Amino acid sequence: MARKIGSRYTAHQILGRGSAGTVWLGDGPEGAVAIKLLREDLAADQELVGRFVRERTALLGLDHPHVVAVRDLVVDGNDLALVMDLVRGTDLRTRLDRERRLSPEAAVAIVADIADGLAAAHSAGIVHRDVKPENILLDMQGPLGPGGSHPALLTDFGVAKLIDVPRRTRATRIIGTPDYLAPEIIEGLPPRASVDIYALATVLYELLAGFTPFGGGHPGAVLRRHVTETVVPLPGIPDELWQLLVQCLAKAPASRLRASELGERLREQLPHLAGIPPLDVDEPDESEPDEQDHEETSYEPAAPTEPRRRSAVPLVPGSSPDSNRDTHTSMRVPGPDELAGGPLGTARAPRSPSRNKPGSARHRSTAEAIRRRRIKVGAASLVAAVALGVGGWLATSAGDDGGGSPQDNRQSAPSQP
Ligand code: ADP
Ligand code: MG
Repeated sequence: MARKIGSRYTAHQILGRGSAGTVWLGDGPEGAVAIKLLREDLAADQELVGRFVRERTALLGLDHPHVVAVRDLVVDGNDLALVMDLVRGTDLRTRLDRERRLSPEAAVAIVADIADGLAAAHSAGIVHRDVKPENILLDMQGPLGPGGSHPALLTDFGVAKLIDVPRRTRATRIIGTPDYLAPEIIEGLPPRASVDIYALATVLYELLAGFTPFGGGHPGAVLRRHVTETVVPLPGIPDELWQLLVQCLAKAPASRLRASELGERLREQLPHLAGIPPLDVDEPDESEPDEQDHEETSYEPAAPTEPRRRSAVPLVPGSSPDSNRDTHTSMRVPGPDELAGGPLGTARAPRSPSRNKPGSARHRSTAEAIRRRRIKVGAASLVAAVALGVGGWLATSAGDDGGGSPQDNRQSAPSQP
């Protein structure tokens, strides 16, 4: 079923559906293209169309081997479309779902590509704001690189910004899935280039571990972990690689590397990573019941020792780490009986709310047990405490049009006051 897009393009078949619209395989004067046709409600938003046109130059000017180039923007009747280079391959989420974990060499090669693409964007003053595996495409027609990885390209540049801009009534809103959100966004600061570094480091961790460092469970809990928890070391990860990850997952944006440095440092490590198999991270227990259905009722004793438990970080620079994990986001400390006695939380694999796939390991058991209890007892205070960040996110969730996935939420924003 062919469909005309503007006067120059024809869409032929659907390549994929995303939260902002549908991506079509099409053609135009210069051959095959991918056409992202934005959802009708977005296309009908006059303000968004205006931004779309104003952002035209920036979007069209970004030309880099690791960025999916936007070739044209079409505003035609009810259609609002981005015409992009066609990438023949798959997205990184699909590969990760298939392989669960990548070898360090493959993971680092992919992330180094994306860091290079980000470096070009950042130096042009463009922040992506939605770096995640879904927006990384693997070009299967490109040459095989280190670890047997095809070239990786970052797509959806500028889309997050087009769809979600600060409004007078709401200075900052949080968009996208919470797993990749930098802590400063949660705290209400405007997104700068370093948010992309944090998100990309989260992707690297996920490629190595099979789960994101702070994901799983209630979105509010995910946001809190970004702000207060430190990342759990991965067993067997080469030390230099771990140091890079820790630096780029720093809570303080200024502590993170810049994209160009990150790309460089990752490439330096590639020769040392050759031949290392995927990390042996604890396999999630496939027989576990789904936590969303049973979290209130099904508890087991937690492991008595917790070798790789996450530690809390001080929220105020210079203060001592919050060893009892009592933070401003969890106002009620569970009593000793709650923590030690009675049935406690089982080793639940934190899961992305949008994927019903276990994404974690047993080593989180104690932290997870405590966390779950906190979520149960303190959900209301949690929302109140991280008022700007969590509140903004939840407010957005409330405006969801029923799409279900957190990333769908961003579309409901333009129609909100
Ligand atoms: P989302 O909004 O979830 O990021 P997208 O709308 O960006 O999703 O993309 C949906 C799917 O379309 C992607 O998963 C990918 O498989 C495919 N796709 C997107 N852009 C391109 C492209 N430039 N070339 C080929 N396929 C693409
Ligand atoms: Mg996308």
